[in-house]
Amino acid sequence: MTKVLSVANQKGGVGKTTTAVNLSAALSKIGKKVLLIDLDPQANATMGSGIDKTILDYSVYHVLLGLVEPSNALKRTDSNYDLLPANRDLIGAEIELTEESRREYRLDDTLKKLLTKYEFILIDCPPSLSLLTLNGLCASTGVIIPMQCEYYALEGLSDLINSIRRVHSNLNSSLEEIGLLRVMFDPRMTLSQQVSQQLITHFGSKVFKTVIPRNVRLAEAPSHGLSIMSYDPSSRGSQAYIEFAYELLAYTENTNKTSKDF
Ligand code: ATP
Ligand code: MG
Repeated sequence: MTKVLSVANQKGGVGKTTTAVNLSAALSKIGKKVLLIDLDPQANATMGSGIDKTILDYSVYHVLLGLVEPSNALKRTDSNYDLLPANRDLIGAEIELTEESRREYRLDDTLKKLLTKYEFILIDCPPSLSLLTLNGLCASTGVIIPMQCEYYALEGLSDLINSIRRVHSNLNSSLEEIGLLRVMFDPRMTLSQQVSQQLITHFGSKVFKTVIPRNVRLAEAPSHGLSIMSYDPSSRGSQAYIEFAYELLAYTENTNKTSKDF
Protein backbone atom coordinates (compact mmCIF):
# COMPACT_ATOMS: atom_id res chain seq x y z
CA MET A 1 0.00 0.00 0.00
CA THR A 2 1.26 3.48 -0.84
CA LYS A 3 2.41 5.43 2.20
CA VAL A 4 1.32 9.05 2.04
CA LEU A 5 3.25 11.11 4.57
CA SER A 6 2.77 14.79 5.35
CA VAL A 7 5.81 16.64 6.63
CA ALA A 8 4.12 19.15 8.90
CA ASN A 9 4.79 21.63 11.68
CA GLN A 10 3.06 25.01 11.88
CA LYS A 11 6.29 26.54 13.14
CA GLY A 12 8.32 28.16 10.37
CA GLY A 13 11.87 27.22 9.47
CA VAL A 14 12.04 23.96 11.40
CA GLY A 15 13.29 21.78 8.55
CA LYS A 16 10.07 20.57 6.88
CA THR A 17 11.19 21.27 3.32
CA THR A 18 14.74 20.04 3.92
CA THR A 19 13.25 16.79 5.23
CA ALA A 20 10.65 16.44 2.46
CA VAL A 21 13.19 16.98 -0.35
CA ASN A 22 16.02 14.89 1.08
CA LEU A 23 13.81 12.06 2.28
CA SER A 24 12.28 11.90 -1.22
CA ALA A 25 15.78 11.72 -2.70
CA ALA A 26 16.95 9.16 -0.13
CA LEU A 27 13.95 6.86 -0.69
CA SER A 28 14.47 7.15 -4.47
CA LYS A 29 18.15 6.34 -4.05
CA ILE A 30 17.29 3.09 -2.31
CA GLY A 31 14.98 2.14 -5.15
CA LYS A 32 11.54 3.34 -4.09
CA LYS A 33 9.10 5.11 -6.40
CA VAL A 34 8.47 8.50 -4.83
CA LEU A 35 6.26 11.52 -5.49
CA LEU A 36 6.89 14.78 -3.62
CA ILE A 37 4.02 17.26 -3.44
CA ASP A 38 4.83 20.88 -2.73
CA LEU A 39 1.86 22.24 -0.80
CA ASP A 40 3.49 25.52 0.21
CA PRO A 41 3.10 28.76 -1.83
CA GLN A 42 6.72 29.59 -0.90
CA ALA A 43 7.58 26.71 -3.28
CA ASN A 44 10.87 25.93 -1.53
CA ALA A 45 10.51 22.21 -2.22
CA THR A 46 10.01 23.00 -5.91
CA MET A 47 13.10 25.19 -6.19
CA GLY A 48 15.11 22.87 -3.91
CA SER A 49 14.26 20.03 -6.29
CA GLY A 50 15.76 21.99 -9.20
CA ILE A 51 12.44 22.98 -10.81
CA ASP A 52 11.99 26.68 -11.64
CA LYS A 53 8.73 27.84 -10.03
CA THR A 54 8.57 30.91 -12.31
CA ILE A 55 8.10 28.99 -15.55
CA LEU A 56 5.53 26.35 -14.65
CA ASP A 57 2.65 25.73 -17.05
CA TYR A 58 0.68 23.94 -14.37
CA SER A 59 1.16 23.47 -10.66
CA VAL A 60 -0.53 21.86 -7.68
CA TYR A 61 -2.88 24.89 -7.71
CA HIS A 62 -4.40 23.84 -11.05
CA VAL A 63 -4.66 20.27 -9.82
CA LEU A 64 -6.40 21.19 -6.54
CA LEU A 65 -8.93 23.32 -8.43
CA GLY A 66 -9.59 20.50 -10.89
CA LEU A 67 -8.30 22.50 -13.86
CA VAL A 68 -5.82 19.85 -15.08
CA GLU A 69 -5.11 16.18 -14.52
CA PRO A 70 -2.22 15.66 -12.06
CA SER A 71 -0.15 13.90 -14.72
CA ASN A 72 -0.04 17.17 -16.72
CA ALA A 73 1.58 19.03 -13.83
CA LEU A 74 4.18 16.44 -12.74
CA LYS A 75 7.90 17.11 -13.16
CA ARG A 76 10.74 14.60 -13.01
CA THR A 77 13.67 15.68 -10.81
CA ASP A 78 17.39 14.93 -11.14
CA SER A 79 17.18 12.91 -7.92
CA ASN A 80 14.74 10.49 -9.61
CA TYR A 81 11.54 11.37 -7.80
CA ASP A 82 8.50 13.00 -9.34
CA LEU A 83 7.39 16.41 -8.13
CA LEU A 84 3.98 18.07 -8.14
CA PRO A 85 5.33 21.63 -8.04
CA ALA A 86 3.96 24.82 -6.50
CA ASN A 87 4.26 28.57 -6.94
CA ARG A 88 2.59 31.67 -5.56
CA ASP A 89 -0.71 30.79 -7.30
CA LEU A 90 -1.31 28.45 -4.38
CA ILE A 91 -2.05 31.43 -2.11
CA GLY A 92 -5.25 31.87 -4.14
CA ALA A 93 -6.29 28.25 -3.69
CA GLU A 94 -6.97 28.83 0.03
CA ILE A 95 -9.58 31.46 -0.87
CA GLU A 96 -10.97 29.85 -4.00
CA LEU A 97 -11.49 26.48 -2.30
CA THR A 98 -13.37 27.96 0.66
CA GLU A 99 -16.66 27.86 -1.24
CA GLU A 100 -16.07 24.49 -2.90
CA SER A 101 -17.48 21.12 -1.89
CA ARG A 102 -15.08 18.57 -0.37
CA ARG A 103 -12.59 21.39 0.07
CA GLU A 104 -10.52 19.43 2.62
CA TYR A 105 -10.36 16.41 0.30
CA ARG A 106 -9.16 18.06 -2.91
CA LEU A 107 -5.66 16.61 -2.60
CA ASP A 108 -6.96 13.23 -1.47
CA ASP A 109 -9.27 13.05 -4.51
CA THR A 110 -6.27 13.90 -6.71
CA LEU A 111 -3.99 11.31 -5.16
CA LYS A 112 -6.47 8.51 -5.80
CA LYS A 113 -5.45 8.87 -9.46
CA LEU A 114 -1.75 8.51 -8.62
CA LEU A 115 -1.53 5.99 -5.79
CA THR A 116 -0.74 2.98 -7.96
CA LYS A 117 2.33 4.65 -9.47
CA TYR A 118 4.18 5.32 -6.20
CA GLU A 119 5.34 3.54 -3.06
CA PHE A 120 5.79 6.78 -1.14
CA ILE A 121 4.09 10.14 -1.53
CA LEU A 122 5.56 12.92 0.62
CA ILE A 123 3.76 16.22 1.15
CA ASP A 124 5.68 19.37 2.13
CA CYS A 125 3.17 21.42 4.14
CA PRO A 126 3.24 25.19 4.71
CA PRO A 127 4.03 26.62 8.18
CA SER A 128 0.39 26.96 9.27
CA LEU A 129 -2.60 24.87 10.24
CA SER A 130 -4.43 26.17 7.15
CA LEU A 131 -6.77 24.60 4.60
CA LEU A 132 -3.69 23.57 2.60
CA THR A 133 -2.21 21.69 5.57
CA LEU A 134 -5.65 20.20 6.20
CA ASN A 135 -5.67 18.94 2.60
CA GLY A 136 -2.27 17.36 3.26
CA LEU A 137 -3.47 15.66 6.43
CA CYS A 138 -6.73 14.46 4.83
CA ALA A 139 -4.72 12.77 2.06
CA SER A 140 -2.14 11.16 4.39
CA THR A 141 -1.63 7.88 6.13
CA GLY A 142 0.96 9.39 8.46
CA VAL A 143 2.69 12.57 9.58
CA ILE A 144 6.37 13.32 10.10
CA ILE A 145 6.93 16.28 12.43
CA PRO A 146 10.43 17.76 12.21
CA MET A 147 11.50 19.25 15.54
CA GLN A 148 14.44 21.50 16.32
CA CYS A 149 15.82 20.62 19.74
CA GLU A 150 15.67 24.14 21.14
CA TYR A 151 13.95 25.97 23.97
CA TYR A 152 10.62 26.69 22.26
CA ALA A 153 10.43 23.38 20.40
CA LEU A 154 7.58 21.93 22.43
CA GLU A 155 5.48 25.10 22.23
CA GLY A 156 2.69 24.60 19.73
CA LEU A 157 3.35 20.89 19.43
CA SER A 158 0.21 20.00 21.38
CA ASP A 159 -1.88 22.19 18.99
CA LEU A 160 -0.42 20.30 16.05
CA ILE A 161 -0.94 16.89 17.61
CA ASN A 162 -4.53 17.81 18.60
CA SER A 163 -5.23 18.93 15.02
CA ILE A 164 -3.83 15.66 13.69
CA ARG A 165 -5.97 13.69 16.14
CA ARG A 166 -9.07 15.69 15.15
CA VAL A 167 -8.41 14.95 11.49
CA HIS A 168 -7.99 11.27 12.38
CA SER A 169 -11.30 11.21 14.32
CA ASN A 170 -13.46 13.36 12.03
CA LEU A 171 -12.06 13.48 8.52
CA ASN A 172 -9.53 10.78 7.72
CA SER A 173 -9.40 7.57 9.72
CA SER A 174 -6.51 6.34 7.53
CA LEU A 175 -4.25 8.93 9.18
CA GLU A 176 -2.78 6.51 11.66
CA GLU A 177 0.87 7.17 12.23
CA ILE A 178 2.86 9.99 13.67
CA GLY A 179 6.56 10.40 14.26
CA LEU A 180 8.77 13.19 15.56
CA LEU A 181 12.07 13.71 13.76
CA ARG A 182 14.85 15.57 15.57
CA VAL A 183 16.57 17.88 13.07
CA MET A 184 19.35 20.50 13.07
CA PHE A 185 20.73 18.64 16.07
CA ASP A 186 23.96 19.92 17.59
CA PRO A 187 25.38 17.34 20.02
CA ARG A 188 27.79 19.92 21.48
CA MET A 189 24.89 21.94 22.86
CA THR A 190 23.66 20.82 26.25
CA LEU A 191 20.26 22.35 25.38
CA SER A 192 19.95 20.11 22.29
CA GLN A 193 20.61 17.05 24.46
CA GLN A 194 18.13 18.21 27.12
CA VAL A 195 15.29 18.95 24.69
CA SER A 196 15.94 15.69 22.85
CA GLN A 197 15.65 13.84 26.18
CA GLN A 198 12.44 15.74 26.97
CA LEU A 199 10.94 14.67 23.64
CA ILE A 200 11.74 11.04 24.36
CA THR A 201 10.29 11.32 27.86
CA HIS A 202 7.04 12.84 26.56
CA PHE A 203 6.62 10.94 23.29
CA GLY A 204 8.62 7.74 23.76
CA SER A 205 8.63 5.53 20.68
CA LYS A 206 6.93 8.25 18.58
CA VAL A 207 10.38 9.84 18.32
CA PHE A 208 12.36 8.45 15.38
CA LYS A 209 15.73 6.97 16.32
CA THR A 210 17.53 8.76 13.50
CA VAL A 211 18.74 12.24 14.38
CA ILE A 212 19.45 14.75 11.57
CA PRO A 213 22.53 16.82 12.53
CA ARG A 214 23.00 20.49 11.83
CA ASN A 215 25.08 20.32 8.66
CA VAL A 216 25.98 23.28 6.47
CA ARG A 217 25.90 21.12 3.30
CA LEU A 218 22.16 20.58 3.90
CA ALA A 219 21.68 24.35 3.97
CA GLU A 220 23.76 24.86 0.81
CA ALA A 221 22.17 22.16 -1.38
CA PRO A 222 18.87 23.97 -2.19
CA SER A 223 20.66 27.00 -3.64
CA HIS A 224 22.01 24.60 -6.31
CA GLY A 225 18.57 23.03 -6.84
CA LEU A 226 19.95 19.72 -5.63
CA SER A 227 19.13 17.19 -2.95
CA ILE A 228 21.93 16.46 -0.50
CA MET A 229 22.42 13.02 -2.13
CA SER A 230 23.35 14.77 -5.39
CA TYR A 231 25.12 17.77 -3.88
CA ASP A 232 27.35 15.99 -1.35
CA PRO A 233 26.56 12.29 -0.91
CA SER A 234 29.33 11.77 1.63
CA SER A 235 28.17 14.57 3.95
CA ARG A 236 26.80 13.82 7.39
CA GLY A 237 23.47 15.30 6.29
CA SER A 238 23.21 12.90 3.36
CA GLN A 239 24.10 9.90 5.50
CA ALA A 240 21.51 10.93 8.11
CA TYR A 241 18.66 11.19 5.59
CA ILE A 242 19.62 7.81 4.08
CA GLU A 243 19.56 6.33 7.58
CA PHE A 244 16.16 7.94 8.16
CA ALA A 245 14.84 6.48 4.89
CA TYR A 246 15.89 2.99 6.04
CA GLU A 247 14.32 3.53 9.46
CA LEU A 248 11.07 4.62 7.83
CA LEU A 249 11.15 1.64 5.47
CA ALA A 250 11.70 -0.83 8.29
CA TYR A 251 8.86 0.77 10.16
CA THR A 252 6.39 0.94 7.28
CA GLU A 253 7.19 -2.55 6.01
CA ASN A 254 6.07 -3.90 9.35
CA THR A 255 2.44 -4.29 8.32
CA ASN A 256 1.22 -4.79 11.88
CA LYS A 257 0.42 -1.65 13.79
CA THR A 258 3.43 -0.52 15.81
CA SER A 259 3.91 1.74 18.76
CA LYS A 260 4.05 4.84 16.55
CA ASP A 261 0.33 4.47 15.88
CA PHE A 262 -2.23 6.67 17.59
P1 ATP B 1 9.10 26.98 6.30
O1 ATP B 1 8.29 26.86 7.54
O2 ATP B 1 9.44 28.40 5.93
O3 ATP B 1 8.52 26.21 5.15
P2 ATP B 1 10.79 24.74 6.80
O4 ATP B 1 10.19 24.20 8.06
O5 ATP B 1 10.41 24.07 5.54
O6 ATP B 1 10.52 26.30 6.66
P3 ATP B 1 13.51 24.53 5.92
O7 ATP B 1 13.28 25.49 4.81
O8 ATP B 1 13.66 23.10 5.58
O9 ATP B 1 12.37 24.72 7.01
O10 ATP B 1 14.77 24.92 6.79
C1 ATP B 1 14.93 26.24 7.32
C2 ATP B 1 16.38 26.68 7.13
O11 ATP B 1 17.25 25.81 7.87
C3 ATP B 1 16.85 26.58 5.69
O12 ATP B 1 17.73 27.62 5.43
C4 ATP B 1 17.56 25.23 5.63
O13 ATP B 1 18.56 25.20 4.64
C5 ATP B 1 18.16 25.15 7.01
N1 ATP B 1 18.29 23.75 7.49
C6 ATP B 1 17.33 22.83 7.55
N2 ATP B 1 17.79 21.68 8.08
C7 ATP B 1 19.11 21.89 8.34
C8 ATP B 1 20.16 21.09 8.89
N3 ATP B 1 19.93 19.83 9.30
N4 ATP B 1 21.39 21.63 9.00
C9 ATP B 1 21.61 22.91 8.61
N5 ATP B 1 20.69 23.71 8.11
C10 ATP B 1 19.44 23.22 7.96
MG1 MG C 1 9.23 24.79 3.95
